[in-house]
Amino acid sequence: MKATRLAALVVLAVVAVKAGQHAKGWFAEPEGKAAAADAAPKSRIVQADADQQYRGDLVLVDKTHPVREAGRLDDVVNLFEHPELKHGYGLMDTTVSLSKRVAEKWQALADAARADGIRHFVINSGYRDEAAQKKLYAEKGSDYALPPGYSEHNLGLSMDVGSTTASMNAAPEGNWLSKHAWEYGFILRYPEDKTAVTGIQFEPWHFRYVGLPHSVIMHDRGWTLEEYLAALKEQHTLTALVDGVSYEVDYYTASPSGETAISVPADGAYTVSGDNDDGIIVTSSAGGEKP
Ligand SMILES: [Zn+2]
Repeated sequence: MKATRLAALVVLAVVAVKAGQHAKGWFAEPEGKAAAADAAPKSRIVQADADQQYRGDLVLVDKTHPVREAGRLDDVVNLFEHPELKHGYGLMDTTVSLSKRVAEKWQALADAARADGIRHFVINSGYRDEAAQKKLYAEKGSDYALPPGYSEHNLGLSMDVGSTTASMNAAPEGNWLSKHAWEYGFILRYPEDKTAVTGIQFEPWHFRYVGLPHSVIMHDRGWTLEEYLAALKEQHTLTALVDGVSYEVDYYTASPSGETAISVPADGAYTVSGDNDDGIIVTSSAGGEKP
């Protein structure tokens, strides 16, 4: 569990830094919007903007939930041009791109895998823009590809990972990922036993970044992203303890008429994501401090 602990600490540190620097898109924007608070408040109310439900690490993209303009990431980079993000694994070609933030998480995962002797990963596909998705759809057809705007690859949070030694079903790389990807915030998005839920065939190569603690909760409960979001919508609050850090995940129904009031920690670290439907999910860690 050493790897899990490290992953949790790294993520928490990033969250804490970003929350403090008013990161566009991923975090609520507190300045000027905080409600009047009592002395020593533990939480405060901020307003999530009208597009918040369409952006963030938890957005669901499928046949009925296309990528919205607000959901497009603004940190997509060509990995081939970023050697610091591509050591220890291969790229299918020079066009493979990904959210830089996600690529950093992947690099941490690849480094841990390498330490376990797993060193034949290759990323076959990452972010695809509209034109690339259109081309793929035209070439492969609707049985094997999704139309432009309806694929997770159009987000920048997903990647197809292969092994240079065997198919992912049989390769040590696939085996390692099935055991450890969740520790780094990634999920196997289309599992073999969940095709009825996802509507997508088993894809042992397709991994999606959702971040901590979400990947841990989904792994523990055996949930797909669809099932996790449905559980949040129904239960409103879920908690998780990941290596000594306690997280709370709260679901809000987005106001149909604009901004939505959400409660966030007064001082601690938090992230905000939509579900790409009518939900806004606030994830906070206790005190925002390392244990
Ligand atoms: Zn894929």
